Amino acid sequence: MTPESLARTVARDRRPEPAGPTDARRYVNQWVEREAIGAEEVSAFVLILRTRGCYWADEKGCSMCGYAKDTLGRSATPEELAEQLSNAVARYRNEPYVKVYTSGSFLDDREVDPESRRRLVAAFSGKARRLLFETLPEFAVAANLEPLKSEFAGEIEVALGLESTDPTVLGRYVHKNAPPSEYLAAGDRVRALGLRAKAYLLLKPPYLTETESLRDVVRSVGEAAPHFNALSVNPVHIQNGTVVEWLFRRGRYRPPWLWSVVDALRVGASRRGESRLVSFPTAGGLPRGPHNCGECDARVLEAIETASLRQEFGPLDDLDCSCRTEWEVSRALEPLGVEA
Ligand code: SF4
Ligand SMILES: [Zn+2]
Repeated sequence: MTPESLARTVARDRRPEPAGPTDARRYVNQWVEREAIGAEEVSAFVLILRTRGCYWADEKGCSMCGYAKDTLGRSATPEELAEQLSNAVARYRNEPYVKVYTSGSFLDDREVDPESRRRLVAAFSGKARRLLFETLPEFAVAANLEPLKSEFAGEIEVALGLESTDPTVLGRYVHKNAPPSEYLAAGDRVRALGLRAKAYLLLKPPYLTETESLRDVVRSVGEAAPHFNALSVNPVHIQNGTVVEWLFRRGRYRPPWLWSVVDALRVGASRRGESRLVSFPTAGGLPRGPHNCGECDARVLEAIETASLRQEFGPLDDLDCSCRTEWEVSRALEPLGVEA
């Protein structure tokens, strides 16, 4: 099976049947996590709305993305979105940072209609200091952003899944819908409107070795930095119903080592310019997430989180474990297709 036909088969199989009204009134998930606004550590309220999901996931979808399973298979009505919002607001405790995701694009009218978007932003206005939402670059335009800007008395941060600044990596391995240049241009547009722009960078897309992916993410940090206020290195974790999972099940993919995340931050720190550089690995230390030997994972994850919150990367140099040598040996053997 070619990577192209594999991607389309996986996309077809993971799409849910259209959901009933009960599901549509429930958001996918909500939690509170550690974050920082400037030098200040704050709590962040994270909300995942249930919407029709990413249109691109229907056509092909990205090789590591399994978010389609959390979607409705149809557009949510404004009433259903209003109910999800009021359920979420009932749990909101004035956390200074609010992050809203939709398993797709908050600014795509098919997922969240313009009036529902305004209502959501207004619900957190005057309480949160910063509000983040994620979108594909084609929706990050003034016509969608200006109405939200006037509804929110704080900073709006627009997050874009740039993943890599290499067109081949982004198009052929990650399977994104647009080239990196469109993501960089969207970052510039967002900032020209006076909003913050954040980019997610993917560590270890499929079909790259650990070393190649490390080089790719470090180069991407340098090339993306002039266009974004913040860059987040996201090491791949294996989500259900994805190309990455298909490869993992056949022994053709290992999630990245936490040592690679450490190096991405250490080396990336010198190339990030004025932008923040962070990493908050999902499923860190688990077999399907970025992991080391099991002995040092909690310690290394804690150091990654602290470095990200404080923007102090020096302490990462002091981390060590016997598995660091295994990581180095396995990378040296990768071109031969041999596991250490
Ligand atoms: S990663 Fe983003 S663009 Fe790609 S399929 Fe998932 S939601 Fe859509
Ligand atoms: Zn270890």
